[in-house]
Amino acid sequence: MSEVRYHSTRAAEGTPGVPFEEALLRGLAPDGGLYLPRPLLPLPQDWREATSPADLAARILPPYLGAARADVEQAFRAALDFPMPIEPLSRERYVLELFHGPTLAFKDVGARSMARLMAVAADRRGRRATVLVATSGDTGSAVADAFKGFDAVRVVLLYPEGRISEMQERQLAAARPGVQAFRVRGSFDDCQRLVKGAFADPALAPLGLSSANSINVGRLLPQALYYLWGALQIERLRGRHEELDVCVPSGNLGNVTAGVLAAGMGWAAGRFLVAHNVNDFFPDFLRSRAEAYAFRPTRATLSNAMDVGAPSNFERLLALAGEELPRMMWGASVDDAATLERMRTSDREDGYLPCPHTAVGLEAVERYRRESGEVKPVMVLATAHPSKFPDAVRRATGREAPRSEALDRLASVPRNALPLAPEPGALRDALLALDDVSP
Ligand SMILES: *Cc1c(COP(=O)(O)O)cnc(C)c1O
Repeated sequence: MSEVRYHSTRAAEGTPGVPFEEALLRGLAPDGGLYLPRPLLPLPQDWREATSPADLAARILPPYLGAARADVEQAFRAALDFPMPIEPLSRERYVLELFHGPTLAFKDVGARSMARLMAVAADRRGRRATVLVATSGDTGSAVADAFKGFDAVRVVLLYPEGRISEMQERQLAAARPGVQAFRVRGSFDDCQRLVKGAFADPALAPLGLSSANSINVGRLLPQALYYLWGALQIERLRGRHEELDVCVPSGNLGNVTAGVLAAGMGWAAGRFLVAHNVNDFFPDFLRSRAEAYAFRPTRATLSNAMDVGAPSNFERLLALAGEELPRMMWGASVDDAATLERMRTSDREDGYLPCPHTAVGLEAVERYRRESGEVKPVMVLATAHPSKFPDAVRRATGREAPRSEALDRLASVPRNALPLAPEPGALRDALLALDDVSP
């Protein structure tokens, strides 16, 4: 079995990499770069015979995780215990629904897989890890849900009080064993600043702080699996093997980076259509091929999980595919009006109601086809369930959003979020106090 190591995007050529566990527990490399696996091994011959995403994990990931096949299979069967079906729409469009996990967004895939891998790693090191996350929505609830009840890892969430929706707050503040939420009197940027400060604080080093956002390579590798799983399902539906274009609603660019990893393993994808809302740094970069690029301040939109002005995975994409990006990818920027219009049209013409993020993707497909004349079959990643966005659904269709049992259940879960002042000292004290009560 060849040995895959993890290398920082900022490391000099020839610097030795680290094993998976270290990359997973650290999150960010010590030089501030992001970890990438090297080499990317060719997919095993038999990957097309896989019967589920967990089966794909067992066939592909052991050398990446430095783990035995049986252990990988067991972890991923437990983590990916929800369906990821293909929904065929008209005109050679296929939607891969990634939102049937417990928090109804695709982030469950990466977070639930990573939680299991991290619990195993922390256990083996005989040390409890603390995952610290600043969140304004989907990531926090997926991570909190994924890690609940693992003794070896505790989760601390910071969210900006009064600046997220009622439904998001319900999801974040729900009481869960091993999870503590703090409502910060400040903005999301304050939360992120606090988290950064905590990682650099020597007084907190004994806590073994880890990150769980999409800078963690432990989330990206599992996400590569569903590209293959979606392609396999489409192949079986159509009865032939052919190249697909793939459309990815994007913000921090973690999702599409996972697709590029799958391509690096030898999956023959067509083009990646990278669909952004008006936070469109990346589509502009693809178009202008700018050597000197500049990130931008974030703008609020209906597809708020994609409101990212400075995507952190950009650095990874450059390191992975650099010069080739403009050939591999095509980018679009879709504003709120076009997003609502696409939700309405999709609902009316295809009987398929997408969430605002997925609608950005569906709109990008139309624009790409118009511009390129290309009508290859396309796989569109559906990233969230429409029931999480009742306002957008009402505005687009005039109807109430479909109910979801998972969200209804949350309404009655008790909340447990402690107030926190937006000051580094306050977070330090709160974290050390947690350690006193639950060593
Ligand atoms: C996070 C998220 C995205 C964006 O994914 P990235 O990996 O950040 O590009 C898209 N849609 C939904 C619903 C999300 O939660």
